[in-house]
Amino acid sequence: MFETGIQLRRERGAENVFDFSIGNPDLEPPESVLQALRRVVSENRPRSHGYMPNAGYPEVREAIARRLAARSGVPYAAADILMTTGAAGAINTLLKAMLDPGDEVLVLSPYFPEYQFYIGNHAGQMVLVETDSQFQPDPARIAAAVTPRTRALILNSPNNPAGTVYSESVLREVDRVLPEDVMVICDEPYRPIVFDGLRVPEAVPIFRRAAIAWSWSKAQGLSGERIGYLALPPEVPGIARLREACTIANRILGYINAPAIWQWVVAMEPDATIDVAEYQARRDILCDGLIAAGYEVLKPRGSFYVFPRTPIPDDIAFIRILQEEGILAVPGSGFGRPGYMRLSLTIPRETIERSLAGFARCGAVDRLLSTAHRA
Ligand code: PLP
Repeated sequence: MFETGIQLRRERGAENVFDFSIGNPDLEPPESVLQALRRVVSENRPRSHGYMPNAGYPEVREAIARRLAARSGVPYAAADILMTTGAAGAINTLLKAMLDPGDEVLVLSPYFPEYQFYIGNHAGQMVLVETDSQFQPDPARIAAAVTPRTRALILNSPNNPAGTVYSESVLREVDRVLPEDVMVICDEPYRPIVFDGLRVPEAVPIFRRAAIAWSWSKAQGLSGERIGYLALPPEVPGIARLREACTIANRILGYINAPAIWQWVVAMEPDATIDVAEYQARRDILCDGLIAAGYEVLKPRGSFYVFPRTPIPDDIAFIRILQEEGILAVPGSGFGRPGYMRLSLTIPRETIERSLAGFARCGAVDRLLSTAHRA
């Protein structure tokens, strides 16, 4: 999509390309985060750029644990927190520590496509489980997918690509059908990005064994800085061994540790968030425009993605039709759900507004029929 975008911009001029394909936050980090960064840099503490314990600076882990315990009600301590290179680093660290070859990890579809590589990196098997018609987890399907090799279930709420926020009641039902030793990996980089005053239910207190993979990539617009953490469950059998395994995995996967300067910054500003209202306004413009043009779309409750049904079942063919209008989208097939497409809200409102006429032309059935005929 990246290459296609460059080519289309060259052919048509940048102002005639509407690139909804990439989930790279376009809003600048909060000013308080940039101020904290300036402070950390100007303090220039001795050894601020050196190696540290593999799990991160103890004071930073302590600060994050305190904050997370206050929010979730789970009694986290510094020992439960490992600072990681983003949520990707957190999930890879945990899977490396947990999986033996052939172990299975349940992933709800539609899903973030990198999960298959994270799992494959550690010789695991991804097992896809369909969500229901509202993209909520389906406990019966999850129960049917569990085998003696199941080690983990990844939950991503708010969801990429569907924008769903999982309800507390469905999470409780999922807990009921999971064997006690299955680790629920709550992948939560979008937690602060929710709309209409919604609160994302705290997942970790619901599950008997749950870890959090967190990053500030999306919520603080810091995706290039690679800063996140892994929070392991404090009080479950075997957790001391898993903590040690994760601490070693964080190093031997090559990350060594999360970026030093950014550990201090996020410890000072853990809760600052980019302007979520801006994403909500963009969501409304895009969804209202698509619905008016006849598209079927569930308005996302969080994250910064919209996941409409494509007007024809062949999502890849439809993506090509959109490209004729200069619109770039990602086919649902890439997320395990053909017949849909993912649109990222990381472009300016004005660009979204100008794209709507193109969406409307592509959504019109007569245009589709004539295109099919030409093909
Ligand atoms: N999980 C989901 C659902 C994501 O969308 C992403 C990034 O797009 C990641 C994990 C990885 O996050 P990070 O880049 O902070 O490691």
